[in-house]
Amino acid sequence: MTAVLGAEATETTVLDDARAQLSQAVEVLGLPSEVHAMLAAPRREVSVSIPLRRDDGSVEVLRGYRVQHNYSRGPGKGGVRFDARVDLDEVRALAMWMTWKCALLDVPYGGAKGGVRVDPRGYSTGELERITRRYTSEIAPLIGPNHDIPAPDVGTDEQTMAWMMDTYSVGRGHTVLGVVTGKPIAVGGSLGRASSTSRGVVAVAVEALRHVGIAPEGATAAVQGFGKVGRGAARFLAREGVRVVAVSDVNGAVHHADGLDVAALEAYVDATGSVVGFPGSTPIESEEVLTAYVDLLVPAAIEGVIHAGNATSVRARVVVEGANGPVSTAADQMLADNGVLVVPDILANAGGVVVSYFEWVQANQSYWWSEAEVDERLVERMTRAWHDVLAYATENQLSLRLAATCMAVERVYRAHEVRGLYP
Ligand code: NAD
Repeated sequence: MTAVLGAEATETTVLDDARAQLSQAVEVLGLPSEVHAMLAAPRREVSVSIPLRRDDGSVEVLRGYRVQHNYSRGPGKGGVRFDARVDLDEVRALAMWMTWKCALLDVPYGGAKGGVRVDPRGYSTGELERITRRYTSEIAPLIGPNHDIPAPDVGTDEQTMAWMMDTYSVGRGHTVLGVVTGKPIAVGGSLGRASSTSRGVVAVAVEALRHVGIAPEGATAAVQGFGKVGRGAARFLAREGVRVVAVSDVNGAVHHADGLDVAALEAYVDATGSVVGFPGSTPIESEEVLTAYVDLLVPAAIEGVIHAGNATSVRARVVVEGANGPVSTAADQMLADNGVLVVPDILANAGGVVVSYFEWVQANQSYWWSEAEVDERLVERMTRAWHDVLAYATENQLSLRLAATCMAVERVYRAHEVRGLYP
């Protein structure tokens, strides 16, 4: 089970956090205990063995998972993670958050998630392809455009999705573009999908800064993680005139008080693979990114990084969760007590699943939209969701997280209610 980093023995796991959030929402909404039990239990889980022939001829057996938390509102939807920390409980938590995220943004999906317990950095491209194809064939009975639609997450990318789509299609005997999202453009990907999570994070961050009386132009920000989400978030923040003063990745962190040149940093990362050593920047400890004196903090790496042990050191006025579950339950309360506004993951990073939905619609219709259309519809949905959650939170005197979770849980509950219980 994934424990939160640097936390005390009493700190919660991500699954504890996800379950606690559901319990709080159920209590606020006054739902019956049997509804709580149904919403807490994943509908389907599969654990698969992935025998991998390594490049040196040896065979290693990896473990993979796919969890479908809920599909009352439509097919399961959720990423596939390749990471050494992946376990069933982490996948369960992430699948539950996907259910709420899809309901909150009103995309017609349930929630799912998958993962393989592997550190992709230790494997060649050929080995990663074999892992992906075997994992896909093992979970193939569960996935499909009308069943469950995977997408990229930590440690996977559009190439992984192309292999998944190809493997699934070979098994079916024809090309099935709608089985995954986050694909390359050449095989039915959507324009704007690659940067959609980051674009959504920044659309919401700008609204949140304005809400607390900080003009985005000239505001300061720190971003943890420089992968698919963090890197784009830094880029779009810079375009909004925000000074991105600190960023980190798994190797280390860099700082520049006047704001890092994000375009130059991206080119540097493309060339070297890390933010560490970026010319003109000062190296800092990774933890200092989380405690930097900035207006906005975007944790966009992994879960559990803001916990009871460091929450009181967070200096940002606004925390926008680019990652899933970066703030533990205990830390959430401590940040609130210190007047830090936390924009929850199920709202903040939902841009990815919104454009995944657009990609699926385009793939199923074989009719492609322009990048401007995708961007306009994405920003419109994210901004609307921000205002809806803010209004609900204000009206019911709840945190943004609890408000967002209540709105989502209520929508899923309504779907359960009208469908009825089979048999
Ligand atoms: P990624 O693998 O592309 O990037 C992860 C980044 O985090 C890398 O730069 C890595 O070096 C860095 N990192 C890892 N451990 C770190 C640490 N301890 N300190 C600092 N940096 C660290 O993954 P991603 O797709 O960008 O996902 C990041 C987070 O966003 C995850 O929580 C994921 O579930 C969530 N998310 C991703 C998407 C998406 O569309 N990719 C959508 C919604 C949510």
